[in-house]
Amino acid sequence: MKDLSIDERRARVADAMGVRAGVFEALSPEHGLTLEQADHMVENVVGVLGLPVGIATNFVVNGREVLVPMATEEPSVVAAASNLARMTRDHGGFVASATAPLMQAQVQVLDVADPAGARVRLLSAAEELVALANEQDPALVRFGGGVRDIAVRLVPSSRQTYVVLHLVVDVRDAMGANAVNTMAEAIAPRVAEIARGRTLLRILTNKADLRLTRVAATFDAAMLGGPDVVENMVDAAELAVADPYRAATHNKGIMNGITAVVLATGNDTRAVEAGAHSHAVGPEGRYTSMSRFEKDTDGNLVGTLELPMPVGLVGGATKVHPVAQANVELLGVHTASELAQIIMAVGLAQNAAAVRALATEGIQRGHMSLHARNVAVTAGAVGAEVDAVVARMVEARSVRAETAEEVLAQLRGRS
Ligand code: NAD
Repeated sequence: MKDLSIDERRARVADAMGVRAGVFEALSPEHGLTLEQADHMVENVVGVLGLPVGIATNFVVNGREVLVPMATEEPSVVAAASNLARMTRDHGGFVASATAPLMQAQVQVLDVADPAGARVRLLSAAEELVALANEQDPALVRFGGGVRDIAVRLVPSSRQTYVVLHLVVDVRDAMGANAVNTMAEAIAPRVAEIARGRTLLRILTNKADLRLTRVAATFDAAMLGGPDVVENMVDAAELAVADPYRAATHNKGIMNGITAVVLATGNDTRAVEAGAHSHAVGPEGRYTSMSRFEKDTDGNLVGTLELPMPVGLVGGATKVHPVAQANVELLGVHTASELAQIIMAVGLAQNAAAVRALATEGIQRGHMSLHARNVAVTAGAVGAEVDAVVARMVEARSVRAETAEEVLAQLRGRS
């Protein structure tokens, strides 16, 4: 892919994924999101923002070959995910699964004289509350979704004990925020009556811990660089399990992959990130690694990742943004759950790539040659000059604007 022109890449990807060649039209700057479309999406629109969309290769997810569009401004992310995905192929690629797409909304009740009594009264009225909530979204119920359960928690605070009712809703192929928020608002007056208090907040929780997606993959020891690299990767990953300072950076690497696919498909990056980081708080209340790395009996590296993955195909920007629609078409997914599983595979590959780089040569070498490209272009290098300037700067271990300008002057003087 690397050495192909953009047109050649497009043809190759369309062919491999069995999609129409025109799918890429929306991904050209002149055909993407129009100003008029943007004006309907948010307020005070003055323009749109372009970001590169690259294709991650080598992914096999649950036995299916998939090429994954990633929207990111960060160099080396797409290449790193593709490289590590390649190392899973002889071991079956990525195995993923997802729970039912259950989102939860919270209804907060204040000023309740008898919180324990309110809890039991609300649970006893479950059938009535579920029916009332389901009436708000007949389309969701028609598609096989709807409210599955209610739960009531008593949450002590510095001011009083709040009674918090959770609506547990199967949102099918939606991200589900609007769907569950509407339900929460609709049942709130009746909840207040039954609890004998007043309601305040009525909104989903982004801690979507009933909507989990899990992925595992075996990375080939020899391709990773041998047994010592595997050992060092396990130790590097264990520091993230044990130490929140390392966990934050380790998890950022996972989100480099996840957010890029979430964004490319028009999904809500903040909702996914809030869910992921809240899930990374272990049972003892400490922030930890989202992933785990182990060595199997053959000495290969087994990576696993489990996160809430509240992404949808039917609502939000996914439905209105032409680039998001093209990317969903490219992925060939038909359910939100399939999309979530692919996103998680990319997160795990990205994670393994960063851990490998850190456990071997460090990430600066890779980053520096990419940074060198930016420096070369900024200095005015064009076409073949870029590679020549980069090579000279790397060789001289001097990636600086002055060096780029000097090398460029020499090159041009010579030609
Ligand atoms: P939505 O309301 O646009 O679409 C969901 C609706 O589509 C369902 O309620 C249902 O009526 C219908 N539908 C049709 N076919 C369906 C199918 N196969 N499966 C499920 N539903 C189907 O969108 P949404 O997903 O409810 O909300 C997502 C949007 O809410 C995002 O844009 C997000 O940014 C935003 N949001 C997020 C938060 C938050 O995360 N805290 C808060 C508010 C809003």
